[in-house]
Amino acid sequence: MTTISVPINLPDIDVINVRTLDNADIIVRVESTKTGTYCKQCGNYITKYHGLNKTVTLNHMPSFGNSVYIEFQPIRYRCTDCDGCPTTSEKPSWYQSTGHCTELYAKYILDLLINSTVQDVGRQENITYKRIVSIIKNHVPGKMDWSKIEKIRDLGIDEISLKKGHKDFVVIISTKVNGRSVVLGILENRKKDTVKDFLSSIPKHLAKTVENVCCDMYDGFINPAKEVFGSKVNIIIDRFHVAKNYRKAIETLRKKEMKRLKSELSEDDYRKLKNIMWILRKNYSDLSDEDKETLNLMFEYSPPMKKAYNFTNKLTSIFNQSLSPRQAKRKIKQWIANVEKSDLTCFNTFIKTLKKLWNETLNYFINRLNSGFVEGLNNKIKVLKRRCYGIFNVENLFQRVSIDLAGNRATY
Ligand SMILES: [Zn+2]
Repeated sequence: MTTISVPINLPDIDVINVRTLDNADIIVRVESTKTGTYCKQCGNYITKYHGLNKTVTLNHMPSFGNSVYIEFQPIRYRCTDCDGCPTTSEKPSWYQSTGHCTELYAKYILDLLINSTVQDVGRQENITYKRIVSIIKNHVPGKMDWSKIEKIRDLGIDEISLKKGHKDFVVIISTKVNGRSVVLGILENRKKDTVKDFLSSIPKHLAKTVENVCCDMYDGFINPAKEVFGSKVNIIIDRFHVAKNYRKAIETLRKKEMKRLKSELSEDDYRKLKNIMWILRKNYSDLSDEDKETLNLMFEYSPPMKKAYNFTNKLTSIFNQSLSPRQAKRKIKQWIANVEKSDLTCFNTFIKTLKKLWNETLNYFINRLNSGFVEGLNNKIKVLKRRCYGIFNVENLFQRVSIDLAGNRATY
């Protein structure tokens, strides 16, 4: 018979015995080496033995692929100082009485959950969905613990839709601490009041440290940020959100033109344009020769599309250049003037928004700060959504994002 030694790695315990069950599960019976506990009533350290509690069986780190369980009977002590001599059972630091597992095991499960799903980890570790959820609940806060950060400086406000094609948005408030993204909050909708309530809930000493707020061209984010953080804070419209807005313009025009072409072209000719929506979304440099042919065909049929496409690329190139705010201002003004001189109307809404958020948009050129960290976060959440289909509860979402972002650092 081969003897294996199982590293238990729990403090203040002695191993009494180790049993292996028929299914190869390993049961390790331990007892505490501590000789007392703190009275639940007076808080004094008490050492008078009263008796043993029921045996608890706790999941522990697997060993060589076998499940390991810790068997433990907590000792109950009696306080002779308090009225009625109440008893208190010992509470070792290495497990939570509600958790059904050791802290090491909980940490192990949380590590496995990084970029994985509750279902997959459950299957892999032979542990129920409910248990994993309870581990998450006991170890990962459902909202921001503000004492964990000292300052905010850059704050990102962004939205993601939780269900494809639905207008069900959640709002992600985030920042970066020592180079890593931290989610400060996930809000269940993008209403102005919801955003304002959250921003107002940031403790005063931290709110004072906010210097930049990155968000998209949406009043419901910009106004609460101004109201809560005051006029000293820079509101910066991320260039990607500006792009989202002017791309919407070309998309609107595309729909209009395609409708016209559908009635004017033969079915065969019209069908040749079927990929145009995707082609317009790509960078020109990423297009295949076939894509370029389709694009040119579209431009032949629709000169306004060609014009709009060129305007779109022109604006993108302005954002790509390293311009000073003053240079950018001049170039974008010129761009607006050129669009307005053309007979295109598809950019009207965009230009109106741009003029209204003029300073906020140009602020981007001050230090080219963008909510890239929010974008990275969005990607994480998108992946998470795909993996954990059905997380529509913002508290759960906050916990799961925290797990993924903390990675192996395991500070949630
Ligand atoms: Zn007492």
